[in-house]
This record gives sequence, structure tokens and C-alpha cells, in this order.
Amino acid sequence: MYILGKCIFTWLSRQCSEVETKDEYDESYHSLKTFLTNRRTCRDLSQACRQAVVELQENLRSKESKLGNHFRLFLRNCMDAMTTSPVESCNHSVKHGSFAVHSNMNLDMTCAKILDGANMRIQRRRNLAEVEMAKFNHASRGITKDVLITKGQRLVDQEHDDRLKYCCVQLNAESFIVWNFEKENLGDTNQGWPWTKLPRFHRVRKLVLHSHLGKHYIKCSCGFRERVGIPCRHMLCVLDGEIDINMMDVRLWKAFHKHYGEESKIGEIVTIRHIHFYQIILINIAILGDLLYSAQQACFDAEKLGCPMSQELYSSLIDNFQERTTPYIYEGTSENGFNLAMKVMQLDCCTESQFNDLCASLDFDLLSSEELTLETIKQIKEANIIVQKIVIYPKKQK
Ligand SMILES: [Zn+2]
Repeated sequence: MYILGKCIFTWLSRQCSEVETKDEYDESYHSLKTFLTNRRTCRDLSQACRQAVVELQENLRSKESKLGNHFRLFLRNCMDAMTTSPVESCNHSVKHGSFAVHSNMNLDMTCAKILDGANMRIQRRRNLAEVEMAKFNHASRGITKDVLITKGQRLVDQEHDDRLKYCCVQLNAESFIVWNFEKENLGDTNQGWPWTKLPRFHRVRKLVLHSHLGKHYIKCSCGFRERVGIPCRHMLCVLDGEIDINMMDVRLWKAFHKHYGEESKIGEIVTIRHIHFYQIILINIAILGDLLYSAQQACFDAEKLGCPMSQELYSSLIDNFQERTTPYIYEGTSENGFNLAMKVMQLDCCTESQFNDLCASLDFDLLSSEELTLETIKQIKEANIIVQKIVIYPKKQK
């Protein structure tokens, strides 16, 4: 009974925090409805209880544009926050602690308190940033470990490691697909019914390279770069783990938190002392303030373009495909797997049962390389259409 409640809760919370497309959302909605009419569920839950769940789901669905995760997939810098948490944290800062305000205070007092509270928080952040600047990160071996904040580096390391679980194919010079169809590990306690009834989706990520005003970008359909500010595991899979500091959002730079908005007084005394020896280095330091502004501007500019990448990486990927007529299959990826990924991509949303049917219907051994090529030329065109179909959801949708 308890397990059943927990499972239904997970079901609904996934609609609000994990589904990635409208089709997945609808599929999850319909499968929960079916689940509630299931014989075993009927035996364990009363009619009134099942009715209440149906009503709750209808209620949530009526607010789909606010609660559905697929609307927030490309929301910038939200760090995968769940629905109302940013609001709650603002609420908490205003109503609690030594600078708390309440409805009995007059306006004068309220404003002063809120301002003092904000200043105190800014100062605290600055102090923390200063501590962070002086820290060494021994937990990572990443090349960006000295310039990223600890949290950022940890996220990067995680994505960097997880890229190894993925398969990748370069469809043409500028598009890629990345996938991993391995079953998720549910843990020992969650193996049986009803957990096995939860909808699981198999997804193929589409990535595109493009250039804008002489700069190069890579964009992925999962939206992770937009939400979190670091390249996703799919990009790292395509780039074979190559990263540099410019790929990260400026918020994750150590220097940004410490020196943002400063009028570049850094290094002045040292400048006078060692002007002859360290001229070039000091010039670099002296423009740090401007550098941070321009780095931030670059992040704003790249808002809808994806993850910036260097000219070398971009050309190496493009050159990799030169004069090829067949898709380039990365090491560790099989042709059969590629074929399956293409089939999954054709579906708007692929549930586990659909996936199993696909696996059963594909006769892998009969597919030769030539067949694959003919098939793929058509598929590549379709894949490109799908890539272009990825749009950022409008703020209001009725
Ligand atoms: Zn991705």
C-alpha cells in the first residue's frame, strides 16, 4: 500500500521533473490512467482513492504549461530546480533570519531590513568567493579544476565520466546522434511491481554543430547546457572528452564571483614593482574586470546558440567527415545499435515496451552495410528535420 502510494507519487513527479517532450508527458498521463484500472491496483486501492489520484492528475494536467518539465527543458541557468524552489528560497530570505520582515512592520522599516539583508548576503557571497579562490581542488584531475568553482568542477567530472556509457554516430559533417539504451538501475528494493509499470523512455539525443558570426557552437536536444551551464555528456561524447574553460558558463568561473564588477585594481602594486619583468602577464591581469564583462556578454550572446567551442575542435569534427558517404560510427558503437537508434528516433516517444518490440522485430543479422547506407541517407534528412524542430518553448502557451 505504502509502496503503491510512493510509486504513484514518483509517476506524477516525473511528469513534473523528468519528461522531455509533450508526447512523453501524454504517454505518462495515459499509462497512469491505465495503471489505475489494472486488476491488481483495483484490489489494493479503494475506488475513492483511485478517483482521488485521477482528479489530482487532471488537476496537474490543467497546469501543464507551468508544471510540465518539457516546458522548462531549455530554461537558462535553472540548475534543474524543481518548479517553485527559486521562489521558496526568496521567500525564505525575506521572512526568516535576523533581517526578517513581517506584515506588522511599516514600509520604512521593511525597505531598510530588506536592503540590509541583501547587502549582507552579497558580502557573505564575496567572502565565500574569496575563500574559494584560495582553495585547491585535489579531488579532480580535470584541466579546468583550478579555474572552476568546486561545484562546477564536480558537475563537469560527472558528465565527463558518464560520456563513456554512450554510443555515438556522426550522421553528416554537422549532425550527430548519441544514445544509451541500457536499462536504468532501479536498486534492489524497487525491482518488482508496481515499479516495473512506471513508464521509461528511450531517447536518442540529436546534436548539431553550427557557426554564428565566426564563432562555433554545438547544441544538444537534451537542454542540459542551457539549464546547468556546462557541456552535457552527449557533447562530451561527440567531442571525445575535450573541454576548455570557454565552454562553461561564466557563473561557474572562480574569478567571476570574486572580481565581477571591480574596476580592475588587481595587480597595481605588483605592476609598479615588476613592470619590466611581467609586463605581458600584468596586462592580462589588469583587464580582468573587462574580461569578465566580455565573458558574461559571450554567455548572453550564446543564449540560444548552444555551447561555444574552439575553432580546432570544430574543424577536427568537420574534417573527420570529409569525403565520407556513410555515417561515421564512433569506436564502441555497433552498426546494429545504430540501426536501432534510428528506429527509436523515428518514434516521437519510445517507451520500454515499444523498445522491446523494436528489438524483437529487427533482424540484425540480415542488415548489411550497403542496406544501412541506403536507409541512412533518407534517415539523415529526417534527422535534420528533427533537429530543426527542437525549439525553445514560448513563455506563454494556451
Ligand atoms: Zn545532451
